[in-house]
Amino acid sequence: MGVLACRQKNSRGTFKPHLAVRFRSEDGKVCTFSVDSTRVPKKQPQPDAYLITHAHSDHHGKSAMLSELSVCTDKTAVALEIRHDRKFKGKTVDMCGSIEVNGTTVRTYPTGHTAGAVAFYWENDVGTRILVTGDVKDPSALPKCDLLITEANYGDHADPSCHFEDDIEGFRSALESSSQVAFGAYAFGKAQRAVELLREIGHDGPIAMEEKSLMLSNRLLDEPGELVGLGEFDGDAICIVPPWDLGKLPRNMAKYVMTGRQDYYYPSLQISDHLDANGLVDMVEKVDPEMTLVYHPGGDRPGKFASHLNSIGRGAVCLEDVDNILGNEFL
Ligand SMILES: [Zn+2]
Repeated sequence: MGVLACRQKNSRGTFKPHLAVRFRSEDGKVCTFSVDSTRVPKKQPQPDAYLITHAHSDHHGKSAMLSELSVCTDKTAVALEIRHDRKFKGKTVDMCGSIEVNGTTVRTYPTGHTAGAVAFYWENDVGTRILVTGDVKDPSALPKCDLLITEANYGDHADPSCHFEDDIEGFRSALESSSQVAFGAYAFGKAQRAVELLREIGHDGPIAMEEKSLMLSNRLLDEPGELVGLGEFDGDAICIVPPWDLGKLPRNMAKYVMTGRQDYYYPSLQISDHLDANGLVDMVEKVDPEMTLVYHPGGDRPGKFASHLNSIGRGAVCLEDVDNILGNEFL
């Protein structure tokens, strides 16, 4: 296929998160794209790009955003700047756009995981189509590829918690359960999904939000409607705050947590930003790769998902199977 997936070691001898993909560009240059990984120290050889699929911390944009070689969408850059209070130094690309990186055209396709989340796609010198998805909620926009580099957050088919559907009806019932309802949702990701869901099911009144959730939602959503700060609402209102702030809101409010987890004090609503185990398989079938490399998250799910893909006749490996290891000085 003309693609070498590598893992890199830090100066301390531990692995860097995620991977680097080495290939020849259409004009024959050897290129390396670092995928959702931390920066290499400035004095060391650099990759041609640090691709950042989205602004969740476990994809390491906080580090990569400080390199001029980083590439992400405009919205991911905004989210990273608000979340980490530092300036994004790289280049940005549209949600359905393309960008030239040292002679390679890199295209983007939305994955519906968070505001700004995209998959990256490019072809190498022998025409191998490479697709790096990051985390995925909606694979409908993804193109066909030969090498798929993807996630397995819920990739363990044997684990019942990896099989779920979004409980939109439960969300609607929660909204109707009281005139004062609060949803616990993380400031980046879930809070924007909560606003979108509320607007989709017809709530067009103001939504009161905790400060960071408010800033992120106003900047990242195309049509958020009226969003206000927690200090500005009185009487009937819908509130969205991080789960740990629910206890600070008035006792008479109906409170819910938007999570797949069951260990919160408040009732939980199953609303996920991810595909479940069957959804992941459907995605692989849809993009129809010759080989799949499961690179995220940590733990044993990538290995379990790769095994499952192999068991249904789809070639797959996980990050731990990649034994091309490079030190910083050899990138
Ligand atoms: Zn994520």
